Amino acid sequence: MAGQVLLVQFVYSLLFMPRPRSIKLRCPICKKVVKNTDAEFPFCSEHCRSIDLGKWATGGYVIPAPLEEGEEENRQPPIAEDDI
Ligand SMILES: [Zn+2]
Repeated sequence: MAGQVLLVQFVYSLLFMPRPRSIKLRCPICKKVVKNTDAEFPFCSEHCRSIDLGKWATGGYVIPAPLEEGEEENRQPPIAEDDI
């Protein structure tokens, strides 16, 4: 009987245990589902990977430049020291 219990536990583990090695994402380029076991993960293909690289190279992705700190403060009128 104990063997049957183990078998049931084994079947349940197959059915319900999460399998961390199978991660699925969508290709950022064409939105096709890609598994992390694929060679070009997270892209679906070398084609999409090259498109993504091209976006970076041509400025398709714009990284906002940080604003100069203190710019906000410079808009305030300076406090006149004569008032103190
Ligand atoms: Zn793709």
